Amino acid sequence: MTNTASPSLETATCPICGPFASAVTRYEFTPYNVVECSSCGLNYLSPRMTQEAILELYKNEAYYNSNISGQGYDEYMEISENWVKTFILRLKQIAPYKSAGKALDIGCGPGYFLTAAQKLGFDVHGLDPSDYIVEKAQKTWGDRVKLGLIESADYAPESFDLIVAFDTFEHIYDPKKFLHAIHGFLKPGGVLAITTPDPTSTLSKVSGRNWVSYKLPEHVFYWSPETIRRILADDFEVLEVRKAGQYATLGFLFRRVFRLGNEPGALLSGIINFLNKFSIYSDNGSLTAIARKK
Ligand SMILES: [Zn+2]
Repeated sequence: MTNTASPSLETATCPICGPFASAVTRYEFTPYNVVECSSCGLNYLSPRMTQEAILELYKNEAYYNSNISGQGYDEYMEISENWVKTFILRLKQIAPYKSAGKALDIGCGPGYFLTAAQKLGFDVHGLDPSDYIVEKAQKTWGDRVKLGLIESADYAPESFDLIVAFDTFEHIYDPKKFLHAIHGFLKPGGVLAITTPDPTSTLSKVSGRNWVSYKLPEHVFYWSPETIRRILADDFEVLEVRKAGQYATLGFLFRRVFRLGNEPGALLSGIINFLNKFSIYSDNGSLTAIARKK
């Protein structure tokens, strides 16, 4: 559908049920709507920004900095420590199915997963579509981090034991193509782990339209345990779907609960700086799906 007022908007359809399945609107975030497929229950954004327009957005340094809640170096280090701890925990959850070998993180950002996986003995690699963040990550990781999308990546076929996509799958416009590309890069018996916001989680239900994971226009799909099992089923055997969480500073959690921006004002900044001295693990309303290549 062409919208002359907003040429960067498009309507979307359910990738499980196809273009003829109907959908009902759950929440309006003009000009975007979160809709639910009437047939399978998948929640997705329609209309949404075109993929071309959103990839431009991701290239932008300002986009990355607006997604890092810390200002100073100390806070940045705390955030990075929390992400490394979070990824070590997720790797331990994956360990019963894959605990060594060559690992790839899709949407690797500054390389926190690489740090975590290397500590556990993996041969680590990362891929990210942002030239800004890849340039930063390459200062530490060299050519272990590459710029690009998995759908067009030039890794050798069947070369990875483990591929992870943490907080990435909700951004993917063509999930079947994405999963098929991963399937091709995994060795026989290779494992895929995805962490993504779950619209059927308790956090989502109690938050309603204020759920922190309704992050627009970037989050285009909202996968539940049921719908992620269905989209994975073509190429993968689903081993486990479990609740996910993350380590975060209390300041970060406080900001999320109150949806505060990067400049919360002097009094609140004082409170947040104090709360940032403490960090805890909490359920974050996401799910982790672990699956083996068929
Ligand atoms: Zn559907």
